[in-house]
Amino acid sequence: MSSLPPLIDSHCHIVFSSFEEDLDEVASRWRLAGVKSLLHACVEPSEIPSIKLLADRFPELRYSVGLHPLDTKSWDGTKTIDILRKAAHEDSRVVAIGELGLDLFKDRNLDEQINVLKPQLHLANELDLPVIIHCRDAAAPMLKLLKEFKQAGRSIKGVMHCWGGNEEEMKKFLDLGLYISFSGTVTFPKAQQIHQCALVVPEDRFLIETDSPFLAPVPMRGKRNEPAFVESIASSIAEIRGQTFASIANCSTANSQALFGLP
Ligand SMILES: [Zn+2]
Repeated sequence: MSSLPPLIDSHCHIVFSSFEEDLDEVASRWRLAGVKSLLHACVEPSEIPSIKLLADRFPELRYSVGLHPLDTKSWDGTKTIDILRKAAHEDSRVVAIGELGLDLFKDRNLDEQINVLKPQLHLANELDLPVIIHCRDAAAPMLKLLKEFKQAGRSIKGVMHCWGGNEEEMKKFLDLGLYISFSGTVTFPKAQQIHQCALVVPEDRFLIETDSPFLAPVPMRGKRNEPAFVESIASSIAEIRGQTFASIANCSTANSQALFGLP
């Protein structure tokens, strides 16, 4: 097992009920595939106690705390921020704030989403933690907001999770210092825009993730996704870039470790 190149699944949701039945088997498969650590993303604060239990159960798991833009109904102003701050202070396994962001594909409430996003960016800045940014059909307002945030003298570090935009947008997020994360969509034959991004992204600025249980990569497309499948994502990127699997595994792992301090 030690001869396998190390992989990191930088974004998964194994707290979801679809993993209830067979999580031990899922874990043995990710260990067999060489997945050395995982970052569990949080979509809303009520999940935190259960995610924490998963971190107790699987020592290679770290997690984020945050509120997803499609869950703004759970937002309770400073109360929510207090919960997130407390969770981050209490447990050193909290390595990021998120997922946070904007989603204008499934929802239209931009102002409300911004109201939930901004305080979380401030919290990440206060705690000196990276952010996990969910951004769907919202690159322009997201760039505007992040630029304003930076111009006000604050720092932003983090990742554009499950990247689905074009090369021009990607370059703007890279210019802000963000990392770009590729999910199972990079394995889809028709996703040419994402292939182009995976081809040109700098070697020291990309991560790989499954976003399990969503978006299973080819050849498992349509099934439940799981962390072991991050291997297929690394393979696709290796093929697109004409590099070896080992080099993609090594640099994506080093990038995840640099950004999140993962083991
Ligand atoms: Zn996610």
